[in-house]
Amino acid sequence: MDSELGREILECELCGCTDAVEIPYVRRYTDGVPYHVCKGCGLVYFKYRRTPQELAKYWEEEMFNKGNYVARNPYFKARHTYAAEFLDLHLGLKDKTLLDIGAGDGQFLEMVQKYGAYARGIESSKTNHELMAKNGIENYLGTIEDYCKNEIIGKKVKPNADIVTILWTLQNSQSATDMLNTARDCLKDDGYLYLQMSVRVLMPFTKPLGMYLGRQPGDLHPYLFSIKSLQGFLNKCGFKIVKTNNYWDQEVINIIAKKADKNINFERDNSDDVLNFFIRWHNESIKMVDYVHVLDLDYKFYNVVTFYEDKGLIKK
Ligand SMILES: [Zn+2]
Repeated sequence: MDSELGREILECELCGCTDAVEIPYVRRYTDGVPYHVCKGCGLVYFKYRRTPQELAKYWEEEMFNKGNYVARNPYFKARHTYAAEFLDLHLGLKDKTLLDIGAGDGQFLEMVQKYGAYARGIESSKTNHELMAKNGIENYLGTIEDYCKNEIIGKKVKPNADIVTILWTLQNSQSATDMLNTARDCLKDDGYLYLQMSVRVLMPFTKPLGMYLGRQPGDLHPYLFSIKSLQGFLNKCGFKIVKTNNYWDQEVINIIAKKADKNINFERDNSDDVLNFFIRWHNESIKMVDYVHVLDLDYKFYNVVTFYEDKGLIKK
């Protein structure tokens, strides 16, 4: 079955170790999609990947065109608003050149334009590309991998951005290293990278494990980051974190990083700690079944964790 999932990644992208252990219980929540923990650095990742072009096609056809991913809802709008405010507070957005990798339908870029930033995007979905163009947002249609090949905003020049932003996209990338290296290439020497995403590995459990993992193909989000593994990627790709929000309290992590020398001597997670963390999360999620309320149906709780129902664990 695994061979049908895509090309297998044999080495950990973060540390190069070839020894990885499959996390127990995970397939029960994901309809058979496995995740592995690297024995060398504790990175949690999905080993089997389609090509970036195949993935981009999936996002276009299955996620955007079928309405399975819609950014214009109150929760995502709140995240984008937070991002714009956070950047304006700490870096100032007025007259800054900002490039957003994985710009989606451009909701965030529309916001930063109102702060006076010159906003541009990279987006692999044709539907989103056309939507942004219609709204007057300059954007490059293609994957980050295409973008690496010098087709930058239709010109053979580096964008020299003051700020590069990656919101909820790094964990979906086919290669986090390529995405971060491209971000670095697109920045001025004194420019800043901004990341917004969730980091839930080796953090307090904020939701049932099945909701976190979901039932989508594994290479739609091949990385499950901890703060150390995320910081490891940043250090390896030549970034140093200079500012974060209080992500322990606020659930979503917001990071501002600046260029630094590439450093492979980053802090690593212990793989046994990571494995035990997922076992604890599984056990805690099972206990939560006792507290599921009928109103949770509104939030599609049952749809996401039908694993419970399959096992006869949910009281009908
Ligand atoms: Zn590793």
